[in-house]
Amino acid sequence: MTQASEPGSRRLLQNLRATLSDPGEGQARLNHVVQLIARDMGTDVCSIYLFRDSDTLELCATEGLKAEAVHQTRMRLGEGLVGRVAARSKPINTADAPAEPGFRYMPETGEEIYSAFLGVPIQRLGERLGVLVVQSRNARAYSEDDLYALEVVAMVLAEMTELGAFIGEGAALSAPHQRPSMIRGSAGQEGTAIGNVYLHEPRVVVTNPFSDDAEVETQRLRGAIDKLRLSVDELLSEASRPQSNSHDKDHMQVLEAYRMFANSKGWLRRMEADIARGLSAEAAVEKEQSSARARMQQVTDAYLRERLSDLDDLSNRLLRLLTGQGTDTGVEMPDAPILVARNIGPGELLSYGRALKGIVLEEGSVGSHAAIVARALAIPLVINAARITAEALNSDEIIVDGDQGLVHLRPEDSVRAAFADKMAMQAKAQQRYASIRRVPAATVEGPTIALHMNAGLMADLPSLPSSGAEGVGLFRTELQFLIRNQMPKRSELVAIYKRVMDAADRKPVIFRTLDIGSDKVLPFMKPTEEPNPALGWRAIRVGLDRKGVLCMQLQALIRAAEGRPLRVMFPFVAQFDEFKRAREMVFEMLDREERLGRPRPRDIKIGAMLETPSLAFAPRQFYEMADFISIGGNDLKQFFFAADRENERVRRRYDTLNVSFLSFIEMITERCAATGTPLSFCGEDAGRPLEAACFAAMGLRSLSMRPASIGPVKHLLRRTHIGKLGQVIAEARYDGHQSVRGSVLEWFETQGITF
Ligand code: PEP
Ligand code: MG
Repeated sequence: MTQASEPGSRRLLQNLRATLSDPGEGQARLNHVVQLIARDMGTDVCSIYLFRDSDTLELCATEGLKAEAVHQTRMRLGEGLVGRVAARSKPINTADAPAEPGFRYMPETGEEIYSAFLGVPIQRLGERLGVLVVQSRNARAYSEDDLYALEVVAMVLAEMTELGAFIGEGAALSAPHQRPSMIRGSAGQEGTAIGNVYLHEPRVVVTNPFSDDAEVETQRLRGAIDKLRLSVDELLSEASRPQSNSHDKDHMQVLEAYRMFANSKGWLRRMEADIARGLSAEAAVEKEQSSARARMQQVTDAYLRERLSDLDDLSNRLLRLLTGQGTDTGVEMPDAPILVARNIGPGELLSYGRALKGIVLEEGSVGSHAAIVARALAIPLVINAARITAEALNSDEIIVDGDQGLVHLRPEDSVRAAFADKMAMQAKAQQRYASIRRVPAATVEGPTIALHMNAGLMADLPSLPSSGAEGVGLFRTELQFLIRNQMPKRSELVAIYKRVMDAADRKPVIFRTLDIGSDKVLPFMKPTEEPNPALGWRAIRVGLDRKGVLCMQLQALIRAAEGRPLRVMFPFVAQFDEFKRAREMVFEMLDREERLGRPRPRDIKIGAMLETPSLAFAPRQFYEMADFISIGGNDLKQFFFAADRENERVRRRYDTLNVSFLSFIEMITERCAATGTPLSFCGEDAGRPLEAACFAAMGLRSLSMRPASIGPVKHLLRRTHIGKLGQVIAEARYDGHQSVRGSVLEWFETQGITF
């Protein structure tokens, strides 16, 4: 191909490649690049603007504008034509720039004389890095080929900027992946951790964005696309088999979308055109992926966003096929690994287990399975950490603040020092808690509070002796179902429950029967479409309507007990009748198992979770019949205040120490006291020392919580005069406070106890 017949962009790329391979100082190279583009495209001006921070662009190199303006001229995102290109992630091409809406004249650059303007965003995988601009004196209309050339160059620049090639002496920015960055997400699991990034699916690194031979690159791309189509077809035929676990609508929809994109002629054509213009196959895929991500950020329609995210996933698959980089990249897990992922399934998370110090997810929700597992493993978790997978690189230093829902990536020294102090204090406190492990939670001159732990995974059980818990106050049996791809067999359940009872070593374990539905959807059960799942067909409602699974579970529990005492608790009971029917089923199963020759548990206790306000007002006979009651505060609170426990906007709005809620808890304790029904509290609030002390002051004598909370709760209870605390609460209520928190905190302070 002769110089003259080559597309402008290809020639430009070849020259760019030569310039970039020259060794040299960052700023000088950046200057070279703009000179080259201006010369090659025959324009008067070429400028590169890069982001100084997420909001401000800075002129970093120019050919044609005044040299003094470099590193001086700045504009905010959205300001002027350059700012608008960046804000909308879309090119602007105009022959008459001053007439364009949003045009801003910058006298220091001397640009008033330039009429034609073509600006394209510099971005990598949706991450905005800057804007590349060409301008001309005459009212020239830049062609489609010019636009294309500039876009391709911008993409190569994005790769180069990423590699830190343009950090010049005195230049305002450093490479995006070297800058400290704070990402605000949502708290998924409390706790703090400092460690190093370990990417669940490391991003593919494109090392050479240039094509050496367009023909070879095109063949590589086509070969990879063929493999991709085959793999998608395989996934589809696997998923459409009737016995498949993934035979559900959403999954099929995703795979159909994959197939559509994998066979899209437009997609292939655009990538081949990029290769013809001088990009390598990988770079061509990444360029398409980048524009899909940019579109994703603009789109508000949920369906379209999902489809664009499917295209993003598919591009990742294609990149893996092209580069041979898989999930197993041989990257060693750091000593203090913080797992960073877009999302992760509960099974995958469990396979990492307790090795992880923290988890950061780009997506996810408080009630997602991954969050449930992270909570069970007590690993600090931040969810909804926007762009974390694009920003974090393997082994980057990272701090997870699961209390505030914050992530500090490549933290500044001062941030690191502050967290190190906080964690050292926490470690010291842990030592203090270890020293009171064997002593009871006896309050000052008052009652002793029984502290139990919540569990749900086998991984929890080693914590039982070390936590100082008197037993397991809530064993969430659904976790064993959630982490599987198919319904566990009865024999498997027997083995699991037996191991739990063996590990508890005569300490009591309260098994809660399957609490599914709402946020807990079993991967192998067809989800039911409900307008409001939290108020829908869940927990005991499912158990009573579809008795098979509940019967199997009860049989497994009876068999696993092998004659030992057994405690069973039913979740989400809303009225007496539900409890009676469920209890009846236990007796039926006991008789059945006895007929089959299996020993009856020596002692059987059947209880209910109080998670709906209605049950608090159940007839006295319910309280008499229940062997014990446990307040499921997480659900009870969401229904009491009508505030979704998973909705970030409202979930922290109402204080647990709100006087109405405390009065309600007090009423429940009084009703239980009247019938002598043992009462416990097993929601998350039981593990918060201040809340736990107030519950004790309201009459609760048993609490169940995460193992890690037992130490802090016990430490406070042992220093608390429950009677006096009760008076403080009573006074605050009498004075008409909305929450007693302020008064309680003040009182503790007078006792020399601060939080
Ligand atoms: C609760 O609702 O307080 C509870 C302990 O159950 P879960 O959090 O599993 O819904
Ligand atoms: Mg609940």
